[in-house]
Amino acid sequence: MSANITIALSKGRILDDTLPLLAAAEIEPEEDLKKSRKLIFGTNRPNVSLVVLRATDVPTYVQHGVADLGISGKDVLMEHGADGLYEPLDLRIAKCRLMTAAIKGAPRKTGRIKVATKFVNIAKRYYASRGIQADIIKLYGGMELAPLMGLADEIVDIVDTGNTLKANGLEERELICHISSRLIANCASMKVKHAELQPIVNNLAAAVNSNQ
Ligand code: AMP
Repeated sequence: MSANITIALSKGRILDDTLPLLAAAEIEPEEDLKKSRKLIFGTNRPNVSLVVLRATDVPTYVQHGVADLGISGKDVLMEHGADGLYEPLDLRIAKCRLMTAAIKGAPRKTGRIKVATKFVNIAKRYYASRGIQADIIKLYGGMELAPLMGLADEIVDIVDTGNTLKANGLEERELICHISSRLIANCASMKVKHAELQPIVNNLAAAVNSNQ
């Protein structure tokens, strides 16, 4: 008998790009994930379930082994840390950039700066690596407001088109890294359920390649 497999999906814009990849890998939810208020779904495969989570919770579920596989933005993985996780595949979806940004045209402050972000760990590492002393201020959303209100000199945030920055009078400064969503796997599951998981990884890899 096949072992049961649970795949943790990130809600929001990653989910839009994930569903076609899963379908190409022949995993189809039993009902429309985006129309239902349920969080756990059966699929066309009797042993495969999907759970739909806040993006930042996906690595936690996979790390604890309650989900075997997960789909998570690289930004979330870098912020969360990768203990107990494999990252077998770059899914090349939900691509964006992690950037620093500041008020358009504002002179660069020398000395200690204030940085608002939800990516506290990434920001700490980034500014330390550049030798810049930064006080990091944790926010949960609407980062663009922080420089406008004088809460911070810079922000660290996800940028896709740049329209959100522009609409708020901010501009891109430095690129921290390019981001895309990744397939992650619980290390223990990958060993114990190898016979079930490896074909899913292979099918997703084929779907990613045929997407390019
Ligand atoms: P944009 O105006 O296109 O630059 O999009 C900026 C906002 O959309 C950011 O503040 C993010 O919160 C969100 N965003 C864009 N792309 C992604 C992504 N791939 N993953 C998560 N959030 C994203």
